[in-house]
Amino acid sequence: MARKTATRRATGRTILLVDDNPEYLEATGRVIEREGHNLLRAKDGPEALEILRTQHVDLCLLDFVMPGMNGEEVVVQLRKFDPLVQVILQTGYASEQPPRELLQRLDIQGYFDKSEGPERLLLWTDVGLKAAAAVQTLSRGRQGLRYILDVTPELHKIQPLEHLLQGILMQISAFIGAGNSFVAVIPENRKDHGLTASGFVAILDEEMGLEIKASTGTFADKRTLTDCLSPSGMELVKRAISAIEIQREEGITVLPLRVGEHLVGVVYLDGIANGEKDTELLLVFANQAAVAIQNSQLYEMATLDPMTGVYVRRFFEQWLLRELRNAFRNHRPIALIMMDLDKFKRINDTAGHLVGDQALIATGEALHEAVRSGDIVGRFGGDEFAILLPQTDADGARRVGDRALELLKKNKVTTPDGELALAGSIGCAVLHPHAFDDNSLPRPIPPAYFQRNLKALLKCADEAMYVAKNAGGSRVHVATNLEWASFEDEAVKRKED
Ligand code: GH3
Ligand code: MG
Repeated sequence: MARKTATRRATGRTILLVDDNPEYLEATGRVIEREGHNLLRAKDGPEALEILRTQHVDLCLLDFVMPGMNGEEVVVQLRKFDPLVQVILQTGYASEQPPRELLQRLDIQGYFDKSEGPERLLLWTDVGLKAAAAVQTLSRGRQGLRYILDVTPELHKIQPLEHLLQGILMQISAFIGAGNSFVAVIPENRKDHGLTASGFVAILDEEMGLEIKASTGTFADKRTLTDCLSPSGMELVKRAISAIEIQREEGITVLPLRVGEHLVGVVYLDGIANGEKDTELLLVFANQAAVAIQNSQLYEMATLDPMTGVYVRRFFEQWLLRELRNAFRNHRPIALIMMDLDKFKRINDTAGHLVGDQALIATGEALHEAVRSGDIVGRFGGDEFAILLPQTDADGARRVGDRALELLKKNKVTTPDGELALAGSIGCAVLHPHAFDDNSLPRPIPPAYFQRNLKALLKCADEAMYVAKNAGGSRVHVATNLEWASFEDEAVKRKED
């Protein structure tokens, strides 16, 4: 069957033809180009190696007998930096045939006798390109799995859910971008987040509706699905949720996040060309991400007070213990604030418990707003709250206390007696860096030592809070009489034994 002379549609595959005979190089090159392949030509071994080092090549058709560097030597050099590119040797005469042993040793995919004509050459080209596609898919899969293994510990670290979701979005976007555009350069204006697509993560809220929790690109700052999506995008999300299966359409990918049959949320990515090849790996990643999200939600349920969203006392005290160790080891100050709302019973009694609850929620928000990241807010029960301030001295603690009071004042509660501003009594206790000689300290320092200091710190802040309350409330009192417990203390030694 005669081949058509018209050039076929571009295949996107690149073939390097290497031959010392200029006529053969020209004529055979044209035959290959007519198939729609991108063709590169080299007249000898060194030129071929230079191209192979600097450009992406799927298949190399390599003359076996060449002056200077022969085909075998070229392959030996090539395999040192690229084990994947497929190679088919070309020979001129039957006597030039490479030994079988050579094909195996150098990982060459086959050889072709030039006298067999262009049809045979194109057959070999097809075989070589198929092998190249298979090898590249396997290699990308392996790289993708390595990527997933590398980022998985990051996913499962204990961290706030919002951070985790933002991280997941970045990872998935980077992953898809990397999988398909390893030769592309990220434009300068995208380098800040390195993303090739816009996207968001939405997770299920209490009413089983989707709530957007992290977003990038064109979706940044948008918080509802209707803000983000066209009717067709919405349709795709609905399909992903009902089928719990990945959906793709016109550059949009919706990836359900599932743990078993249970849907946790979805990832929506826009502007991804050619992502189909990575579907399997994306699903593996999505499974990991979904489990991490579920763990994080369970963790938050166990550690956060459901009404106010601040940490429960048990968690707060664990964290305090941890920060006490850090403060001691690193010679840093650490401060603790206790706060009790003033005349809170009156709100309950006059406006009812629901309004009282609202006041507690507003208090949690005010305290969150008053602190930096790294500080921890907890509820000790009733209307009593605590704030842990690592690396903070007495002045810093007083400033946080004043700020909290200011923010509380802004929250007015409506009661039958009129509007009532929230107020609280605040006590601060500070442990300054210790003055012990580090070399004289017991090693390891017994856990009882930190327990003892924790109790002393809590007691001191509580007493300071009562000083503020007894002085009329709505003020901050900073205790000045606290120091790290001495190691000679009998109680510590007893516990140690
Ligand atoms: P003081 O100024 O001396 O602090 O007086 P107070 O009225 O604030 O009273 P106190 O701190 O001794 O008591 C706190 C009250 O908070 C007792 C209880 O009725 C109320 N309370 C405790 N937990 C909750 C809650 O979850 N919701 C509501 N609405 N009220 C609560
Ligand atoms: Mg109170």
